[in-house]
Amino acid sequence: MVERLQTFGDIQLSKQVLQALSEMGFEEPSPIQNAAIPVALDGNDIIGQAQTGTGKTAAFGIPITERVNSKFQAVQALIVTPTRELAIQVAEEIAKIGRYKHVKPLPIYGGQPIDRQIRALRMGYQVVVGTPGRLLDHLNRGTLRLQHVKMVVLDEADEMLDMGFIDDIEGLLKEVPSERQVMLFSATMPPGIRKLAQTYMNSPRSVSVSRDDLTVPMIDQIFYEARESIKVDALCRIIDMEDIGQGIIFCRTKRGVDELVVALEARGYFADALHGDLSQLQRDRVMKRFRDGKSELLVATDVAARGLDINNVTHVINFDIPQDPVSYVHRIGRTGRVGRKGQAITLISPKEYRQLRLIENLIRTRIRRKELPSLADISERQAENLKNQLVKLIQGDRLGNYRAIVGELLEEYDSTDVAAAALKFAVEGASAEERMDDLEQELHFGNTGAATGMVRFFMNIGRVQQIRPQDIIRWIADESGISGNIIGMINIYDKFTFVEVPEEYASRVLSCMHQNMIKGRRVSVEPAKARDNN
Ligand code: ADP
Ligand code: MG
Repeated sequence: MVERLQTFGDIQLSKQVLQALSEMGFEEPSPIQNAAIPVALDGNDIIGQAQTGTGKTAAFGIPITERVNSKFQAVQALIVTPTRELAIQVAEEIAKIGRYKHVKPLPIYGGQPIDRQIRALRMGYQVVVGTPGRLLDHLNRGTLRLQHVKMVVLDEADEMLDMGFIDDIEGLLKEVPSERQVMLFSATMPPGIRKLAQTYMNSPRSVSVSRDDLTVPMIDQIFYEARESIKVDALCRIIDMEDIGQGIIFCRTKRGVDELVVALEARGYFADALHGDLSQLQRDRVMKRFRDGKSELLVATDVAARGLDINNVTHVINFDIPQDPVSYVHRIGRTGRVGRKGQAITLISPKEYRQLRLIENLIRTRIRRKELPSLADISERQAENLKNQLVKLIQGDRLGNYRAIVGELLEEYDSTDVAAAALKFAVEGASAEERMDDLEQELHFGNTGAATGMVRFFMNIGRVQQIRPQDIIRWIADESGISGNIIGMINIYDKFTFVEVPEEYASRVLSCMHQNMIKGRRVSVEPAKARDNN
């Protein structure tokens, strides 16, 4: 007999919420939702444990939406999250769930002008989602009032504890009326969480997704062995071989992230860095590019990527094996989100087998070993791709004008040569020989010396390293802390670049930039020599 699928309709939900869920494309509750929602609807305190990507947001978002009174203009549910991104995501999801019940969430986080938040808070939202510090700030200013709060959610509680937010969280909980429902969600249950639960929760029910469900079966997990010194090249080969739609590459440290981005770019692979040292603006920009599908590869630290819900991630690549097996579960949770297929790839050095075994023990799954693709494999694969694309074009039969050109060439040249030249042109572009060489470029564009008040620098890096003007501006601005818009003329040649900066910043730029690593190269920066051109 076939077991009937559990649907959201089997849970006691309002028509409005069912309608919203169906429009969100949620067909059936995930295991944690199945377990948590009925218990939460009954008003119980909950400790929910499930890995990332299992649908915890709706597990608390649905009961909240059902239980707050949308006619009452006061904060009735408080959701605390570790990061600003997560606060925004949770608020967005609740806005969707609450669409027809007219339940409105307000995200509150650091980095946003406080007076704007104060004005928003006066508008009477029923649900406030925020980071602990900023919520506490509003509480202390009296701009956030919690006396009508009847539900509190601590989302990614283990993460918040790791980030040192415990005092802030306790500060908030103390201000919430004691007649309240607390829901705590966490991927892991370290002692600190248990203590928090004991102190602030009222006979909480545990809802967890059993270990068997721990690893999403849709994720294919493999590992490659590669010595430390060849890891970047190994990674590039993997990227070439795999059909990566969008991938997140994890490194252990922020430094590691930056270095890998540079090393990848030097090899012609473009990736965005995501880590805690970026300004909020930079992070938002990186996330938006990735979400919009404008960048394919994100290189991130664990902390920066934790809890982010990014759809369509096809690959998670552990460039560094995580130190802590639990992080592995977090990391691979970024792909194969509810019902989608994903691939998790881990690179390990021969010394790291022990860590791999620890991970396998935790997830109770063997991670399959694969051999690194050889260069021959890759070129075969690329040739295959090229052939496929050509066949598509031929079959598409829209060759129009191009056929006429080929016809003319064939009167004089061999057909294989004509086709091969066309391919070469398509793949490699106009050949390098046709470009002006460096010297000629300089003569052509003139080395007229710097503009008044500016000093001109010479850098031994250029188009060959795929340098673009925006790269130069970013590096100078980041390294020397001067604003990008006061940087003057930039001329990029094949092997070198001239850039002008205001005189007063010249020595600062020189000392910050000289011998710095750019795109995997140590770059020399020096004042440009005036050419004695009459
Ligand atoms: P978690 O908080 O456990 O990491 P999220 O709540 O961020 O997971 O959910 C991950 C993704 O799965 C989100 O895009 C969410 O909209 C989607 N999702 C959640 N529940 C369901 C469901 N029942 N059916 C389909 N998609 C779902
Ligand atoms: Mg979550």
